[in-house]
Amino acid sequence: MDYQRLAEILFPDVDKTPEYYEEVFPKRELPEGAKVTRLGPSPTGFIHLGNLFGAFADERLAHQSSGIFYLRIEDTDDKRFVDGAVDVIINSLRFFDIRFDEGASAEGETGSYGSYTQSKRGPIYRCFAKKLVSEGKAYPCFLTEEEIASIRAEQEAIKANPGIYGKWAKSRNLTIEEIEEKLSAGLPYVIRLKSDGDMSLPEDQIKRFRVEDAIRGTLDMPVNDQDTVLLKANGIPTYHFAHVVDDHLMRTTHVVRGAEWLPSLPIHVELFEKLGWELPIYCHTAQLMKIGEDGNKRKLSKRKDPELSLDYYRKLGYHPAAVREYLMTILNSNFEEWRIANPDADMNEFNFTTEKMSNSGALFDLNKLNDVSKDVLLKVTASDLADFLQNWSEEFRPELSYMFEDRKYLERILDIGRHESKPRKDHIYADQMVENLSYFFDSTFRIQEDFPAEAADDADTILEKYLESYNHSDSQDQWFDKIRRIASDLGYAAKPKDFKKHPEEYKGHVGHVSTIIRIAVMGRSQSPDVWEIQQILGEFRTRERIKACLNR
Ligand code: GLU
Repeated sequence: MDYQRLAEILFPDVDKTPEYYEEVFPKRELPEGAKVTRLGPSPTGFIHLGNLFGAFADERLAHQSSGIFYLRIEDTDDKRFVDGAVDVIINSLRFFDIRFDEGASAEGETGSYGSYTQSKRGPIYRCFAKKLVSEGKAYPCFLTEEEIASIRAEQEAIKANPGIYGKWAKSRNLTIEEIEEKLSAGLPYVIRLKSDGDMSLPEDQIKRFRVEDAIRGTLDMPVNDQDTVLLKANGIPTYHFAHVVDDHLMRTTHVVRGAEWLPSLPIHVELFEKLGWELPIYCHTAQLMKIGEDGNKRKLSKRKDPELSLDYYRKLGYHPAAVREYLMTILNSNFEEWRIANPDADMNEFNFTTEKMSNSGALFDLNKLNDVSKDVLLKVTASDLADFLQNWSEEFRPELSYMFEDRKYLERILDIGRHESKPRKDHIYADQMVENLSYFFDSTFRIQEDFPAEAADDADTILEKYLESYNHSDSQDQWFDKIRRIASDLGYAAKPKDFKKHPEEYKGHVGHVSTIIRIAVMGRSQSPDVWEIQQILGEFRTRERIKACLNR
């Protein structure tokens, strides 16, 4: 067969040579060891935690090695394309401080290895498909859907592997005349890889290949035998073909992608080989898992788990630094240890490596995220925390604008108990903080709990006496001595341990009395130190709250 002629017949439109593209997209001039990574999302409008997880690994690998991290839009499946999706991807990732050096961007494309949008790379894919056809490594396949369905049925009946390969690949044997005839009849066709693999051989004769995966170590797999589609009937490439062509021409050194692509690795290896290109280093990441309702590990699911969506974290107001810190703990198993040794270091000083990535499931746990967030927020200054809250509220909860009218007040609130030797870790995420701090603001202050039964009958007397003796400039000790006095005057033990020893002698103890005051001033029985809070609330507000409680 004259493959060169076949290639000319099939691709009369291709006017560039492979050498031309090799020259236009030369090897990158980067320092020794620099890694080139990419994120290749499909613009479906939904960007999830798994994307962020992978993007973070890509970003670290590239930026830690003075390399390049770029964004490629994989929009070859036009059914899934959603308008504005590219902006969603870029903005969502930027929020988590993931930035690209080149590729698709809100302002158009940057970088000299583009286009970075697959739907704009048609001529490039056609050029390399033509090359494969001209070397007898790919061919036009005219099988109709019906024919493919009946092949599948036949394969099922005899328990053969499904797919188009070997003897099932009927278009492989067409002569050039037959092909020309079908073309002139206008029959649709796809371009398929002519695979060398042969799975019909006895098990021990099936060829295998080995690849070093940077996360999984040596992969030993049977070679591909499928005549995979490279170009679909509409001329659009499949993921397999586009990925290989793009990652080669964009000079990607490390392909970080989900484990769901592992089964198709043999196809990609065969394609790289047939095109005569060096294989990039594959890094197949573990799936994100969670402990499901039944106590077993399962994959995070778009339908069941709202926390899979990145919007979830933005809406609740998780601080991006907390999400990054947490993701790093699941990305690299030695990160937590490093963090303990370097509590104040910038996370970017940690040496991220693919070897320390898990290759089974990466367990995602919201409770753990919350714990990490508490620690991270402790290091954010009150002023930065106030800025963060304000930005979040402007986007998601504009009705909270009253919180930002008095910045100094807000900052003092946010700083309560954070400078002690054992600091309070009250803050987790914006929505929770707003709820937690609601008692500081008159419009959201409410009495949320009942008075403790031990002192409820004396509540009015306690509050009256408290109001009478209240002096806003009392030290914390003076203030508490007064409460002790009120307690013992009314028949409560001034010390809880006295009450414990002789409960029959008292109505209750000073803790019950102070809880009445706490509930009157804060509306709840659990809160930081009352004296400190009153100092922040101010004398007027403190007295007003006691009075209001008396007149209930
Ligand atoms: N477009 C592919 C996806 O969304 C990208 C896979 C890859 O990174 O190679 O899954």
